[in-house]
Amino acid sequence: MSNRIIKILEKSNFCKEDIIELLQTNKEERQLLFAKANEVKKNHVGLKTYYRGLIEFSNICAKDCYYCGIRAGNKNVQRYDLSDEQILQAVKFAYDNNYGSVVFQSGERMDKQFIQRIEQLLIKSKKITEGKIGITISLGEQSKETYEKWFKAGAHRYLLRIESSNKALYYKIHPQNKQHDFDTRLKALYNLQKIGYQTGTGVMIGLPFQTFEHLADDLLFFKAFDVDMVGMGPYIEHTETPLYKERNRLLPLEERFILTLKMIAILRIMMKDINIAAATALQAIDPIGREKAIKVGANIIMPNITPTLNRENYQLYENKPCIDEGADECTNCLEARISISGDDIGYGEWGDAPHFAKRKKKLFKNLKELD
Ligand code: SAM
Ligand code: SF4
Repeated sequence: MSNRIIKILEKSNFCKEDIIELLQTNKEERQLLFAKANEVKKNHVGLKTYYRGLIEFSNICAKDCYYCGIRAGNKNVQRYDLSDEQILQAVKFAYDNNYGSVVFQSGERMDKQFIQRIEQLLIKSKKITEGKIGITISLGEQSKETYEKWFKAGAHRYLLRIESSNKALYYKIHPQNKQHDFDTRLKALYNLQKIGYQTGTGVMIGLPFQTFEHLADDLLFFKAFDVDMVGMGPYIEHTETPLYKERNRLLPLEERFILTLKMIAILRIMMKDINIAAATALQAIDPIGREKAIKVGANIIMPNITPTLNRENYQLYENKPCIDEGADECTNCLEARISISGDDIGYGEWGDAPHFAKRKKKLFKNLKELD
């Protein structure tokens, strides 16, 4: 057993070199990392997992990210857009089943019609749940005015993954043009935080060209940005995307999986009181992948409550799990598996990250001092 790893895990702050060493731990050493992360989770956010009912309401997307199966350039996808009624039914399902929160996710659109529709859906979602459902949205890069409009309408958390905090790597996985601009994405994250959203970001792990250094920098980026939530998962190649041609550069799926668990565990130790999601992509590699993430620091799970008929068309990567199961089935099996992982479920609670409350308090104090 490496004394070096034991020493690193005793520190209260990791430098880049520490993180790289932790990412390279062997099977025996990584158990120490995972145990430490679980202890930190227990002491700072509690052994409790919160549900966010995921509604992937449309796969129509104006963008062309090189890795994503529903990119605009993939002409072999059957496009769908749920009706307002279907979306609200899913919201009601989450509320009736005590999920506490929902996530609205879709391809990226910035047109006026889309923006207004989301605003109305947010207002109605609150109305049919007596103001009680918590709403996270993940609808890509939008103008500050749009983010403000949706915040006022009832959304209070936003997920916008930076995908990679390294600009050069970002442009290896996105076209380099106005629609896929790294600085615009960064600015969008700043705007979300400024408006008052609980702000979440994340990266894909195991991308072609990605190094341990990149991943260490990603974790340091989350810390420097002071995010409230992180959702990061393994990159899974999709045959009908441009990035598929780089598949020979990829780590085997199992290694991408372990690397993701390590990233989650290190992040939990670095940012003790944030929310960390167990990404659905983990389940595509290992049937109990998300539960394994819960044991090493994650505390959010996003059961898919999209009406089953449309799930097969929201394939960001192939072998996406649970595409044939109804929401009920998913929920029941999930509950049993989470209890086995040792966590309780925060039924009916929003489960906001304690980090957010502290950040808000700090901001308020600073503003008062400026008065
Ligand atoms: N369109 C919005 C956006 O891009 O922010 C939200 C939906 S997008 C499908 C949600 C996330 O899916 C992206 O942030 C990306 O990290 C992830 N994703 C896309 N393709 C993936 C792939 N092949 N493997 C793993 N994750 C993928
Ligand atoms: Fe569209 Fe999001 Fe996929 Fe990029 S990752 S192509 S924005 S759905």
